Amino acid sequence: HYLQKIEKTDGKLNSFITVTGEQALDQAEAADKARAGGGDTGILTGIPLALKDIFCTRDVKTSCGSKMLDNFIAPYNATVVEKLSAAGTISLGKTNMDEFAMGSSNENSHFGPVKNPWDLKAVPGGSSGGSAAAVAAGLVPAAMGTDTGGSIRQPAAFCGITGLKPTYGRVSRYGMIAYASSLDQAGPMARSAEDCAHLMNVIAGHDVRDSTSVARGVPDYTETLNAPLSGLKIGLPKEYFGDGLAPEVEKAVRDAVKMYESLGATVREVSLPHTHYAIPAYYVIAPAEASSNLSRFDGVRFGHRCKEPIDLMDLYKRSRAEGFGEEVKRRILIGTHTLSEGFFDAYYTKAQKVRRLIRQDFLDAFEEVDVLMGPAAPTPAFDLGAKKDPVSMYLQDIYTIAVNLAGIPGISVPAGFAGGRPIGLQILGTHFAEAQLLNVAHQYQ
Ligand code: GLN
Repeated sequence: HYLQKIEKTDGKLNSFITVTGEQALDQAEAADKARAGGGDTGILTGIPLALKDIFCTRDVKTSCGSKMLDNFIAPYNATVVEKLSAAGTISLGKTNMDEFAMGSSNENSHFGPVKNPWDLKAVPGGSSGGSAAAVAAGLVPAAMGTDTGGSIRQPAAFCGITGLKPTYGRVSRYGMIAYASSLDQAGPMARSAEDCAHLMNVIAGHDVRDSTSVARGVPDYTETLNAPLSGLKIGLPKEYFGDGLAPEVEKAVRDAVKMYESLGATVREVSLPHTHYAIPAYYVIAPAEASSNLSRFDGVRFGHRCKEPIDLMDLYKRSRAEGFGEEVKRRILIGTHTLSEGFFDAYYTKAQKVRRLIRQDFLDAFEEVDVLMGPAAPTPAFDLGAKKDPVSMYLQDIYTIAVNLAGIPGISVPAGFAGGRPIGLQILGTHFAEAQLLNVAHQYQ
């Protein structure tokens, strides 16, 4: 059913880079047999999923949206992929994304932009735009994304689905192609908080292959979905309701907050005073880490190699010049600059100090309230081609990026429409508060 739908519709959307139909049908048959034979099955046995093309999948192309890896067949599975497969899910394929997860509109993909299923003139958001569009269009019930500065929550908002970025360290990063290692985190994108909870039950937990994953028990995220919300303390960060926020988005968010009040929650204003430093700090730290992570793409070990190099330096230079797109090159240049001698303290060290202040803002707020609510993005999905200037694109992430710098979890929940395009309500919690976020998101009506 889903494969036929992909075949029929995805020519318009471009949400998949690779469809693994044959493998999927084999797995479906095996799942059917297991169910019929009373084998070892669980709630996710036989459920089709899609994986952002940043997750290494054994024997399947893993391009990360880049020409650099257009020829890369991963020799192993990411831990997330391994766990989802062990739980009986079936991967239908790999979804489109901004190259190396750098972008907010999916227009930076080597494989072409993805269209928003609600309005084909609009972007689906990014960088997990393919996963969001595929779920929104009903091409797959759920998909995996990654979020370094908003890449799960913003496309979920633009496509009218639910997307959860877990606490840094909650989900293993092993086998996820690294963009900015201190910020990257994998998470579920689905039609409901309940579906996200089922996926979190599978993917969360410690992994000996990722030393930044945290050894801490994993609750059953579905168990608390219906816990009553009376007495829940909601904070509205005043910095998230200022200039630049579209009035229709503000209205949708305030309406949602009112609905939560009617369920017994109390609301108060809080302040995250360093909010306006989040984008500058991110665009020092993330490119710095990216410039280091992406040095492994040298045309020697894997990925694109230029034709007939005259010597080793020529091989490096031309392979990278040909393999990387504009935005990736821009960030490698920024990162190399900020890490270079003479600039390191002025940029990188300073940005790390700012990062700590941003984290402290959240910790202070969570002394007073249980969760924070605000918009996931300043506007509904914008038109394809509308944001040509990189800085205007970077400013899209004003409400999502600080969350990654602080390492806390966040979820985007569909909260209405404006002009036929969806709006996302963002809910934030303190470290490891995923169960609470899913509970609150599940009660949205
Ligand atoms: N839009 C942000 C960027 O371009 C965040 C991307 C992400 O979360 N991967 O870096």
